[in-house]
Amino acid sequence: MELHLYDTYTRSLRKFEPLEAGKVGMYTCGPTVYDYAHLGNLRTYVFEDILRRVLEFNGYQVEHVMNITDVGHLVSDADEGEDKMEKGSRRTGLSAYQIAEKYTAAFQEDITRLNILFPTVWCKATEHIQEQIDFIACIEARGYTYRTSDGIYFDTSKLPNYGYLARLDIEGLQAGARIEMGEKRNPTDFALWKFSPAGQKRQMEWDSPWGVGFPGWHIECSAMSARYLGSFFDIHCGGEDHISVHHTNEIAQTEACYGTRLANFWLHGYFLQVDAERMSKSSGEFLRLQSVLDRGIDPLAYRLFCLNAHYRSKLNFSWEGLESAATSLQRLRTAYYEWGQSSAGRQERIDEQMLGRFRDQVNDDLNMPRALAVVWELVRSDLPPEIKKGTLSTMDRVLGLRLAEWRPEEETAPLEILTLLEARQQARKEKRWADADALRQQIQEAGYEIEDTPQGSRVKRKRTTVGEG
Ligand code: AMP
Ligand code: ZN
Repeated sequence: MELHLYDTYTRSLRKFEPLEAGKVGMYTCGPTVYDYAHLGNLRTYVFEDILRRVLEFNGYQVEHVMNITDVGHLVSDADEGEDKMEKGSRRTGLSAYQIAEKYTAAFQEDITRLNILFPTVWCKATEHIQEQIDFIACIEARGYTYRTSDGIYFDTSKLPNYGYLARLDIEGLQAGARIEMGEKRNPTDFALWKFSPAGQKRQMEWDSPWGVGFPGWHIECSAMSARYLGSFFDIHCGGEDHISVHHTNEIAQTEACYGTRLANFWLHGYFLQVDAERMSKSSGEFLRLQSVLDRGIDPLAYRLFCLNAHYRSKLNFSWEGLESAATSLQRLRTAYYEWGQSSAGRQERIDEQMLGRFRDQVNDDLNMPRALAVVWELVRSDLPPEIKKGTLSTMDRVLGLRLAEWRPEEETAPLEILTLLEARQQARKEKRWADADALRQQIQEAGYEIEDTPQGSRVKRKRTTVGEG
């Protein structure tokens, strides 16, 4: 099956064809770096990573651009309230630039732990101010802007197609608009440039043809994607919350300036939820990758947890669900490792039939749950180990579980276990067999098994059995 992707713009499953043979330009909206990413944010980046890997699996060369929002994202998506960076600065006592640096590094560490491939281009909003000013000037020259006392705004009523991506009910919104609109002409109008408040010096502000201030949140993505990928490129993605405001406005800006709808395909990842509510930074429990590590769970188990659900369905987070993904991951790793041991010296081979079925599933709009079902079938099959290993190692180019890198832990058992082991060795030396047996029992009850070798005794953590999904 050839690659098909669900395009939010047309609300349909479309066969993917690149604009330029063999190449794909892809833009993914990156983090707003005023705080750590939560597990919900990371679910979206895992989905985008799978998309990137599936494109590469299909032989495309992917130019992947990700922005870092380090200015301009206000506390409310409707251009009101404080800048998230300046607010974070007050919370932590660090400067806005230090905050951006700190959380950008934390984000890059998180995605490294999740084996998410780095984009080919990282771009920061604060390092592309001139591009954003030029873009706003272009929109202004085409007659889509107006000025209020606090900034330059986009007049959405001038764009007949405005809101198409989200199928917005513009008339309904107009009718429901309340006084909070302030000086805005239409409820959906949004800021392109905000002035620094009178008499106040912001940490992040720049001169512009309209006055000192800072860019609105949406303009950075139109300006930087145009710079690195051109005014019309293959794929644009983000989380589902971006459909109605952020991506709608990115499209409006690019349509106003270049007359294109920015990207050929629009893909959106659905939310990670906790107790049936969206996980967010402002409400509920703030779970991040560090929370997973703190529980002694491998971050790649979170990756596998995400792959167990289709990206276009909501996923409920639970620790039980994550633990069970951790067990599955351990089974896969152990199986993979043992196939290597038992087929040592034999050439790895691929079972084309299994791989073909896996490819069909990932190419069917990234159906990872079904692709994983093929993986488990392969694990349980009676194919020779060198074929299982060769086939799974190819599948892992998409799964990204680093199966080939895993080794059983060479024992670093806790001190108390090693002490018991020593006592047992002593007992054996002195032929106190009943004591030795009792100590063995104690060690096993603590979750370790003993291997007696000619070189001495070792302990290993007990392993789960291989071969079940
Ligand atoms: P932000 O750092 O807030 O700009 O968000 C980064 C990415 O995470 C965006 O693509 C959002 O759409 C996405 N996102 C936010 N909340 C969630 C959630 N609960 N589940 C999945 N993705 C989310
Ligand atoms: Zn964006």
